[in-house]
Amino acid sequence: MDSLTVRSPAKLNLVLDVLGKRPDGYHELRTIFERISLSDQITLARNRSGKIHIRCNHPHVPCGPQNLVYQAAKLLSGDFSISEGLNINIIKNIPVAAGLAGGSSNAAAVLSGLNRLWQLGLSNAQLVKYAARLGSDVAFFLYNTAYALGTGRGEIIKPLNVKTKLWHVLVTPRVKMHTPEVFARLKLNLTNKRDNVNILLPFLRKGDLVPLAGALANDLEPAILSLRPDFIKLKKKFIDAGALGACFSGSGPSVFALAESQPHAVSLRAQFDRRYTQASVVSTL
Ligand code: ATP
Repeated sequence: MDSLTVRSPAKLNLVLDVLGKRPDGYHELRTIFERISLSDQITLARNRSGKIHIRCNHPHVPCGPQNLVYQAAKLLSGDFSISEGLNINIIKNIPVAAGLAGGSSNAAAVLSGLNRLWQLGLSNAQLVKYAARLGSDVAFFLYNTAYALGTGRGEIIKPLNVKTKLWHVLVTPRVKMHTPEVFARLKLNLTNKRDNVNILLPFLRKGDLVPLAGALANDLEPAILSLRPDFIKLKKKFIDAGALGACFSGSGPSVFALAESQPHAVSLRAQFDRRYTQASVVSTL
């Protein structure tokens, strides 16, 4: 096998609870990840140069060592003394720095893709250890599951056996939001902390959409809004248009709505002016 093409999906956080700050500087989280149909496509091809070359159709994605896929490939090539080179082509559909973990998903796709291309024989548990070295959101994408509970800094994954398929509209304003900046603005309020995961989970399992929409929660919302107060309008616009609920994903600025069905999602998307936002209809994958 000389090349391999893999799909690299985005995630939403249906719940993102921040439980506290840890001595190592990370925050302790409890989150429900949902894998969604919006995906990048990654092709891995052997080359004889001995170097890693990255190409990407998105102008804001770095094509050198800052790219998480470069770091993923370097980790494996170093540990397994791989001397041949690699061309990585990324077709980006997932908005960048948007709270959708596009870079993390790309890194996971490269870890599992190279495990096959280079026939490394790594188990999923071993791949998950590499994932944790690359970033907190990488591990989730190594599990073949639509939904998972994430704890620790998000890297401890428990797949959830939930069959419900959700329809969303996802809007991303055309501005980037960097995760460390958002966490720096976070004011932790640890008293009377609601267990949003256990509030939402029974509704998700039953596919009970109205209470599910009411249980969507993201503790980073005040921090996101302190950077961009105007983004509250995105949520409001969804609710005014008849969405069941709306919530920021991750550290924003993407906002997703929960729709009743695919046609409902299509009608909600029509409310957004594509000059200012990227808007798409997505479903659980
Ligand atoms: P994070 O929570 O890490 O900020 P995010 O989902 O909000 O993630 P990403 O699309 O992963 O955002 O991009 C975050 C930053 O990571 C970007 O500004 C970009 O420079 C860098 N980056 C590195 N590798 C990639 C990649 N393969 N795809 C997209 N961005 C990448």
